[in-house]
Amino acid sequence: MKSINPFTGQTIAEYREYKSSEVEEIITKVDDAFQSWKLTDFAQRSVSMKKLQAKLLEKKDELARIIVSEMGKVKREAVGEVEKCASVCGFYAENAESFLKNEPIKTEASESYISYQPIGTVLAVMPWNFPFWQVFRFLAPALMAGNTGVLKHASNVSGCALAIEQLIAEAGFPENVFRTLLIGSKEVKAVIENPKIKAVTLTGSTPAGKSVASIAGAALKKSVLELGGSDPYLILEDADIETAAQLCVTSRLLNAGQSCIGAKRFIVVDSVYEQFKSEFVRLMSEAKFGDPLDPHIAIGPLARTDLRDELHQQVEKSRELGAVVLLGGYIPEGEAPFYPPTVLENVTPGMPAYHEELFGPVAVLFRVNSEVEAIRIANDTVFGLGSGIFTSNIEKGKALAEKGLEAGCVFVNDFVKSDSRLPFGGIKESGYGRELSAIGIREFMNIKTVLVK
Ligand code: NAP
Repeated sequence: MKSINPFTGQTIAEYREYKSSEVEEIITKVDDAFQSWKLTDFAQRSVSMKKLQAKLLEKKDELARIIVSEMGKVKREAVGEVEKCASVCGFYAENAESFLKNEPIKTEASESYISYQPIGTVLAVMPWNFPFWQVFRFLAPALMAGNTGVLKHASNVSGCALAIEQLIAEAGFPENVFRTLLIGSKEVKAVIENPKIKAVTLTGSTPAGKSVASIAGAALKKSVLELGGSDPYLILEDADIETAAQLCVTSRLLNAGQSCIGAKRFIVVDSVYEQFKSEFVRLMSEAKFGDPLDPHIAIGPLARTDLRDELHQQVEKSRELGAVVLLGGYIPEGEAPFYPPTVLENVTPGMPAYHEELFGPVAVLFRVNSEVEAIRIANDTVFGLGSGIFTSNIEKGKALAEKGLEAGCVFVNDFVKSDSRLPFGGIKESGYGRELSAIGIREFMNIKTVLVK
C-alpha cells in the first residue's frame, strides 16, 4: 500500500498489508476490549472522548498536513475537517447518555421500557475524500455507545488511518477499543464474516456498498451505507440569484468537488436561467487551482490521477453526445492530477453527466420551464443523498422539500453540510441508515425491550 502526494507525485510512505493472522489477532483483541468497555459508564467514556477532542485541536495543523499530503485538499479545508472531528467528539461526549437513556413505554405490565445496549465490534470501511471526518463521525458515537471498532481505510490514506489510531491511544482510551487494519478491499469479506464482527458501516461508492451489503446480508449482520450522490439544486424564479449562485459554486468546489454531498446538478427555471448561468460561470472561473498549501488557492489536485482521468472521460463522452462545455473541460499541463472548474449545459439522458456521479469540480446546468419539470429532473437519478432549493417563498420551499425531492436531506436557501446534531444519510442508491444525531448513535445498538409483569 502506497501513500502518494498527489501534488508532488512523491511517495510519502509504503505500508505492508497485514496478514490474515494479524487481522484475526487484532479483531480478537478488540473484541476482548469490548467485553470491559461495554460495562464502563458514560462519564468514564466521555473523559476519554473529551481528551480526544482536545488532542485533535492541539494537533490540528500537523494532522491537516497529513490529510493534504495524502489526498490533496487545500490546507484550510483540512484544518476545518480536523476541527469538525473535534466538535463531533464533544457533541457525543455531552449527549450520548441522553440519546441512549431508557425509554419507558406504557403497557399493561408494571414496567416496560427500551434499553439501548452496545452490540460489539463494528467494522468501518471508509473513503479517502474526508479521511478524518468520515472516520470520526462513526467512531465518536460508536465508542460513546460502548461499542468498539476496527477501521479499514481507503488504501491511499493509510497515514491518516494510523494517525487516528495513534490519537485514540494518546487520548487514554483503553487499549484496543479502536484499531486500524491495513488491508485491501479484497480482505473485507473475511473481516465481515469473522464472528467477532457484529456489524459494518461503509462510506464510499455505490458498487463498494453493494458488495459489502451483500456480504453482510449473507452473514446476517447489520450494515449502514453512506454512498454516492448527484445532488440536485433547484433555482426557482423567486430566488435571490446572486446568493444562490455563490452558495452553489461554494458547494460544487468544496474538497475540489470530491464530496458525496457536493451540489452537482443545478436545475434552473427558464426566466432566471441566463442570469444564474452568467453569475455561476463567472464565480467558477475565478476559482484557482494549485498548491494545496497555498492559502490563496481554492482547489487542490484531485486525489489520484486515475480518478481525474475518469472524470475527464465522463465530460468528454458527454461532450461527444451533445453537451456544451461552458467552462473548463480539459486536462491541465503538468503531472499533478488537477481538473479545472468545469460547467456543462445541454446535458440530456444517455450522457454520463446526466446519470453518473461527477466526483470533481464539474457542474451541470439544466434549463426547465416549470417547477414540476425541475422536480422531475431532480428525481430522475439513481441517487438520493442531498439536495437544495433556492426560493424566497419559504412555505413553497418546505413543501417541495418534504413532498417533492427524493433525498435524505433538503436544505432550503443553503447548501447541504453534515452537522453532528442532524441525521445524515441517503435513500435509493445513496445508501441506507443514518449517521450523526440521536438516530446515528442508535444504528449499532441492541434496541432491547425490557418488561416487568
Ligand atoms: P470506494 O472506491 O468505494 O472506496 C471506499 C472504501 O471502500 C475504501 O476503503 C475502499 O478500499 C473500500 N472498497 C472499495 N471497493 C470495495 C469492495 N468491493 N469491497 C469492500 N471494500 C471496498 O470510494 P472512494 O473512491 O474512496 O470514495 C468516493 C465515493 O464515496 C464517492 O462515490 C462518494 O460519493 C462516496 N462518499 C459517500 C459519502 C456519504 O456519506 N454518503 C461520503 C463520502 C464519500 P480501497 O481504497 O482499498 O479500494
